[in-house]
Amino acid sequence: MHPNRTIRNYRLFALTLALALPFMACAAGTAGYRFPREPGTTPGGYPLPLSGKPITKTPVISTEGAALKEYPEHYIPGQETLADNEMRITACGSWGPAPLRIGQGASCLLVELGNGDVFIFDVGGGTVGNLFALGVHPARLDKVFITHLHLDHVGGIFPLFDAMGWARNTPLHVWGPSGYTPELGIAAFTQNVREASEWHIQSKQSILARGGMTIVPHEVDISKFSPERPRQLAYDENGVKIYAFPVIHSLAGAMGYRLEWNGRTLVYSADSQPSTFEAEQGKGADVFIHEIFPSAEEFAHYNHMPIQAAEGVMEEHTTPAELGRVFALSKPRLGVGMHFTLDDKLIDPLFERWRTTYNGPVLLMQDLTTINVTSDYIVVRQTKADLLAWPAIPPKPPEGVDMSPGQPSKAQRPSWLTETRLQQAP
Ligand SMILES: [Zn+2]
Ligand SMILES: [Zn+2]
Repeated sequence: MHPNRTIRNYRLFALTLALALPFMACAAGTAGYRFPREPGTTPGGYPLPLSGKPITKTPVISTEGAALKEYPEHYIPGQETLADNEMRITACGSWGPAPLRIGQGASCLLVELGNGDVFIFDVGGGTVGNLFALGVHPARLDKVFITHLHLDHVGGIFPLFDAMGWARNTPLHVWGPSGYTPELGIAAFTQNVREASEWHIQSKQSILARGGMTIVPHEVDISKFSPERPRQLAYDENGVKIYAFPVIHSLAGAMGYRLEWNGRTLVYSADSQPSTFEAEQGKGADVFIHEIFPSAEEFAHYNHMPIQAAEGVMEEHTTPAELGRVFALSKPRLGVGMHFTLDDKLIDPLFERWRTTYNGPVLLMQDLTTINVTSDYIVVRQTKADLLAWPAIPPKPPEGVDMSPGQPSKAQRPSWLTETRLQQAP
């Protein structure tokens, strides 16, 4: 063999081995196909995005005198049980508007409670794979709370709805704002999603149980918000209360949510300009998750956009210094910035600006950042997700759910075409 070719082949072998080794190491353990980027930090000392550590300098916040439970370095779905008084919040997506990125889905949070309840807040594009990899069976992922109808917050609803039949045999319940007019509300949106799925549904209705092929909307009437009624109770079951409150973002009909359960409180305002009103809604929160944006110059530079357009985008959003002012008023145990375009170079400038107005514990969310919350402590880690995860063990279908398939659709292929099918091999 030509010596150069031998060297090339050797290099190819070495490269293949180098790429395969992490997978071989993982395969030997209980983990599947998991590969965080090499660990590293920014010059300012913050972990680099996707390097397996959460982007914060305070990954553990403990109440004085409280005993701290030891957690493994990473959260591995399926390997930890929540305590009765514990809440776990995981970002299925941490970014915002398109273009979507492989390493960052749009907006989505999975919230799991120690009483067994599970909630999704927003379901942006590119997030449902993360959601399904978090070890919760799709049949239990049937309660979705949408903050507003920008597509970076609802664009993942089709793959979530597609868990019907295969897994979820009861309707998908979706909470969200009513609109300024009916066509701008969550009921119209979910009806349109259902209608756009007609071909898909008819193709499966004679094969799979049909119970999951519907969406039930739950509208929060935005006309009823007022200074006297700043919040509305959108959900109240099993000791969990979820309130909706309006936020300043784009058109009428953008909201945040406040979940209260067993002494724990999560506030998620999603996209919102900073205001004293939302700061008031965030008071008493264990975790307050709010959008955070780079500067107009940075946004214009990375998105190849005229500065005027970037400034127009910024008008609807919140800068780090502004978010610091909101947190200074709300005083959450942990303040979280989300909806940020992650980039190694943007991390230090972001925290520098954030720190000009706020000194409390803060976290910059990336995909699969997990926050465990109890009265004693808050622990932030990165999830090691199985990139080829199979669904978790299905729960038993609820009593009375009809698991039988329906009649075939009338939209059958022409027989002359079907008759040309090759004989099935043995
Ligand atoms: Zn957004
Ligand atoms: Zn938005």
